[in-house]
Amino acid sequence: MENVIIIGTGCAGWTAAIYTARANLKPLVIAGEQPGGQLTTTTEVENFPGFPEGVMGPELMMKMQAQAEKFGTRIEYDLVSSIEKQGDGTFILKTSGGNERATKTVIIATGASPRYLGLPNEMDLIGHGVTSCATCDGAFYPDVPVCVIGGGDSACEEANFLTRFASKVYLIHRRDELRASKIMADRTLANEKVEPVWNSGVSAYLTDEKGDVRAVTLKDTKTGEESELEVKCVFVAIGHVPNTQFLEGSGVEQDDNGYVLQTGQDTSTNVKGIFSAGDVADHVYRQAITAAGNGCQAALDSERYLADLEG
Ligand code: NAP
Repeated sequence: MENVIIIGTGCAGWTAAIYTARANLKPLVIAGEQPGGQLTTTTEVENFPGFPEGVMGPELMMKMQAQAEKFGTRIEYDLVSSIEKQGDGTFILKTSGGNERATKTVIIATGASPRYLGLPNEMDLIGHGVTSCATCDGAFYPDVPVCVIGGGDSACEEANFLTRFASKVYLIHRRDELRASKIMADRTLANEKVEPVWNSGVSAYLTDEKGDVRAVTLKDTKTGEESELEVKCVFVAIGHVPNTQFLEGSGVEQDDNGYVLQTGQDTSTNVKGIFSAGDVADHVYRQAITAAGNGCQAALDSERYLADLEG
């Protein structure tokens, strides 16, 4: 029987692991589909305290993992498919790898995944000119026009990064004002290679004879007018959806968008012994540092819960 199983390996998961490991709870981390979480698909992180020169996202995550392992955290590379509460208040976690793990507490730190537009051929075009990761795919599109969809910090970050490769980066936004922070918005709009396309959405992906993206259909959000824009790749940056599908049947309360509800004053959910941390429970702040802070809180909360159990 484990003391604590942490599901997820983003900033929240690793911080929870560091704290529970240092509390001698010998945490088991189940890593999930994208070990390291969202920061592994980003470039430079400029706002994580303690790194005045900035730090590369993947490097930050590797350091967090090393810190968690240094204190005895164990890691399994598997995907949790369900959580079942037992009569004695403990939990059985089943994984897609066919394993079952018993634990006294669970910290859900599974983060959120990129949202897509939902166009009919979208999923088939991933890897053929539709992506949500400029860091991963930007270099495949040198000296050609590309576009980014969205108006938040992610869209701006992606657009700026892509100017290293692309001949032109169209930033397609459904309004005429960016949601991004002022510093990011100003930097992006000042970049000569970035051309904003205001009040517009993408209503279709158009492909060439090889099945790769060659253009998008733009729809004016005010007039409904449609036009064609030639781009070789579309970077979708329109926010995220929480990774909570595996919670079906667990009894853990979620909001209408699937975010886990932290029901008390702390990180506890409505199910005693299950805690949550980071983007899976936070659609407001969604920062690396807030996820890390929340991971710390969940670790302390689970530690107190275990101490109370032992009376
Ligand atoms: P976000 O702030 O939620 O922005 C999503 C953008 O996509 C918005 O501009 C939104 O338009 C647009 N959008 C949403 N659904 C759409 C749809 N169906 N069709 C077209 N456009 C759609 O998400 P984010 O940019 O991923 O940022 C998430 C969080 O991470 C934020 O708190 C952000 O500050 C943070 N972040 C920080 C950094 C950094 O500081 N370096 C980098 C990346 C992200 P509307 O504006 O019209 O709603």
